[in-house]
Amino acid sequence: NQYAKVMGIPFPKITLDRTVELLSQVIEQKRPELFHVITVNPEITMACQKDESLRSIVDEAGLITADGIGIVMVSRIRGGGIPERVTGYDTLLRLLHNGNEKGWSFYFLGADAATNEKCCDVISVKYPNVNIAGRHHGYFTPDNEGAIVEEIAGLKPDVLVVALGAPYAERWIHQYKGRLGAKIAIGVGGSLDVIAG
Ligand code: UDP
Repeated sequence: NQYAKVMGIPFPKITLDRTVELLSQVIEQKRPELFHVITVNPEITMACQKDESLRSIVDEAGLITADGIGIVMVSRIRGGGIPERVTGYDTLLRLLHNGNEKGWSFYFLGADAATNEKCCDVISVKYPNVNIAGRHHGYFTPDNEGAIVEEIAGLKPDVLVVALGAPYAERWIHQYKGRLGAKIAIGVGGSLDVIAG
């Protein structure tokens, strides 16, 4: 069995390496649909127990990963091991590394304006061949949300990085999935703050 069920959520038994390999394949393919990656942390897992709309967002994702050591340990106790925790932050760093080799384009949505800018400055120095197609802070109003979606759609980034916090990022990606035009979209929690330092 390729999946380990923890609290009703079927987690694929994949490592970070394999996750990045799969996502790299998705980016190199010409897929018509946005591929939604959800690193399912304990908060999302708990919220899914009561919130059916969130649960269906998780069910519809292209790939989920186990982003919690507790989730990994529960699967081990049951003998159906998830090999390791796969976080949004680690996945993002690996995508940036591969993107630097392959010249992928990224759009960074989220964090406050100063952090968003600083983070992109850091990335452009550390990963000079990454194409930063665009960026926007995460404190927008419903009024300018449409314009952000249109901007992303026009830029068609390989990777849409959404740092709005979980599960807000997951709901946001799901809501606009059909319009974003990105190849993959991933919620990364507070990763942009960490990169900005
Ligand atoms: N954030 C945002 N817009 C919001 C709320 C949060 O851009 O309306 C950003 C916040 O600045 C931070 C990230 O989302 O960069 C949330 O980080 P946190 O570590 O709280 O997320 P988690 O890891 O819990 O998903």
